[in-house]
Amino acid sequence: MASLEDLSRELLRIDGRGYKAYKDIAGRWTEDELVLSIDHVQSDPFAAPSRVRLRLPNRWPTDLWSTRTRRIALEDFVARRVARAIRREAAGRRGSGKSGRVAIDAGGQEVLERTALAIDGEGAEARLEVGLPAAGRRILGREAEAVLCDELPRIAASLLPGEEEEATAFVESVENHETLRDQLRARGLVAFVADGAILPRESGVSERPLRGAVAFRTPEALRVELAVPNPPYRIAGMGVPTGVTLVVGGGYHGKSTLLRALQRAVHPHVPGDGREAVATDPDAVKVRAEDGRRVERVDISPFIGELPGGRDTRAFSSDDASGSTSQAAAIVEAIEAGARALLLDEDTCATNFMIRDARMQALVAREDEPITPFVDRVRELWESLAVSTILVMGGSGDYFEAADTVIAMRGWEPDLVTERAREIAGARDTGRRREVASPLAAPRRRCPDPRSLDPSRGRRDVKIDTRSVSEIGFGAERLDLRAVEQLVDRSQTRAVGRALLALRERHLGAAATLADALDALEAQLDADGLESLSRHWMDLARPRRHEVAAALNRLRSLRVS
Ligand code: ADP
Ligand code: MG
Repeated sequence: MASLEDLSRELLRIDGRGYKAYKDIAGRWTEDELVLSIDHVQSDPFAAPSRVRLRLPNRWPTDLWSTRTRRIALEDFVARRVARAIRREAAGRRGSGKSGRVAIDAGGQEVLERTALAIDGEGAEARLEVGLPAAGRRILGREAEAVLCDELPRIAASLLPGEEEEATAFVESVENHETLRDQLRARGLVAFVADGAILPRESGVSERPLRGAVAFRTPEALRVELAVPNPPYRIAGMGVPTGVTLVVGGGYHGKSTLLRALQRAVHPHVPGDGREAVATDPDAVKVRAEDGRRVERVDISPFIGELPGGRDTRAFSSDDASGSTSQAAAIVEAIEAGARALLLDEDTCATNFMIRDARMQALVAREDEPITPFVDRVRELWESLAVSTILVMGGSGDYFEAADTVIAMRGWEPDLVTERAREIAGARDTGRRREVASPLAAPRRRCPDPRSLDPSRGRRDVKIDTRSVSEIGFGAERLDLRAVEQLVDRSQTRAVGRALLALRERHLGAAATLADALDALEAQLDADGLESLSRHWMDLARPRRHEVAAALNRLRSLRVS
C-alpha cells in the first residue's frame, strides 16, 4: 500500500491539470495505523463529492461496543466527535464548487443506526464526503494535499478514544432508553415519560430543547418506576397504559407537545435533549389527515361506508383523498404494517372523521353519512385488534366513554382525570348513538405489485434522490412525506428511498404481502446492515418499517393486487 507521502507527491504532480486527473488518486493510502481509502472520485468540482473512508484500529473499551445497542450508540457518539473535529480542523471551501468541503453524516437529536461510522472488533471507520479542490476545472493540488494529507489525518484522530466519560454516559443513556422501551409491553404500557423530562422544543423548526421549560411532573396516579441497567438504575415517571388514552386540557396547555414527544420517543435521544428517558412502543404510529394524498386499494370500510357514486370502500383508491378518507386509510395502513398503537392529535385530524355528535345525528340521517366516526371504533381497535390509541382531544367530550385513561394537561403539567370524566359521562348523556354496521376486522393483507414501484427516470434505470427529510424523488415521481411525521432524519428518508428499491427488487412479488415484505426487509437490514441498501451507503440511517410502509403507500404509481 502506498503512503500518504506518496499521495502528497501524486497531488503535487497533478496540480494544475484537468479535473479528470484526480481519478489517479483513487485507492488506499496509509500513514502509521491510519488507512485512508479514496473510494469514489467525483467527476467535477460541482458533482456529488468524493467518498473517503478513514480507518484506525478500534481502541475503545470493549464494554462500550459489546452489544448491538451499545455499538450503535458508540458509533453515533464517535460520528458526532468526527463532525466536531471537522468543524475544528477543516478549513472549508478552497476553490470552486464544493472544493475543500469535508462532511460526515452525524445525527441530530435522535440516536440512530447509521452508516457514517462503523466500529467493529478491528477498526473504527469514518465515511466522509470530500470536495476535491479545483479552480474552475483545474486541480488545486496543494489545496488537495492540505485537505487529504493534513486535515484528514487530524480529523481521523477523533476516531481514537477520548472524552471517555461522555462516551460512557452517552452509551449508557441510549441503553437505558432501549431498556425502558423494551419493558413497556410487559408492564402494560404504550409509553413512559420520566419525571423531569423536558418536552417542548426550541421552535417549530428546531428540535433542541426549549430553554426555561417547565420540567415534566408525573401525576401520582400514573407513577411507575422502571429499572434500567445503568445509573440512575431506576427511573420514575408517568406510564401511559395500553388501551385508549385521551389527552385533554385547555388550548396552549401542552397537549400536542406531549404527543409530539411521544411520537419521537420511538427513538433514543442524545444526553441533554430532555427526552432521554421518554420511551414509546416502537410500533406506535402517528396518523393524521392528509387530503390530496394517493390511496391504493385500502379497505377503509370500517370507517367509511358507501360513498356518493357508489364507490367501493373495501378496496378504496383515490388520487386525491379527502381529509376523512386519507385518515381512515392511514389507520388501516398502519395496522396492516404492524402498528401496536396509534397517536392522533386533534390539530391534524379531520373533524368529521373524529366526531359526529347527537345534534348532527339528528339532522343528517345515518344513511346520508358514510363516515363511522373514530369515536365509535376506538374501543374495538383495542379490544379486537389490541391496538392502543393515544388521542389528543381538547374539543369534544364525546370520547369520555371510550377512554380507559384520561390525562388532563394544565399549565404543562399532567393530571389523571379518568374518574372525573367517567362521572361527567354518567351524569350527562351526550344523546348520541353508536353507529356501527359491522364489527371491526383486521385489515386485509395487500400484495403490492413490485413493477409499480418504478425507480427509472429518463435513461437511468434507478434514479432516487432525497431533497429533504420529507421528500424523495423516486424515478419520475416526487414522493411527498410531509405527513409522515416520524421520519426524523434526512438520512432515514434516504434509506427509505433505497428500501423501496429493495422491496421492488428483493422482497415483493411472488404474491408477497406488504407485511411479509417488510419483515423480509427488516431481516435484510439486521443481517447485512444498511450498507446492503445502496452502493453509496455512507449517509443512511435506519428507518422503521412503518415509515417505509408509509412511503410505499403514498407512491402515486403503487398498484396492489
Ligand atoms: P396545546 O396542544 O395544548 O394547545 P401545545 O402543546 O401546542 O398546546 O403547547 C403550547 C405552547 O406551550 C407551545 O409553544 C409549547 O412550546 C409550550 N410548552 C409546552 N410545554 C411546555 C413546558 N413544559 N414548558 C414551557 N413551555 C411549554
Ligand atoms: Mg394542540
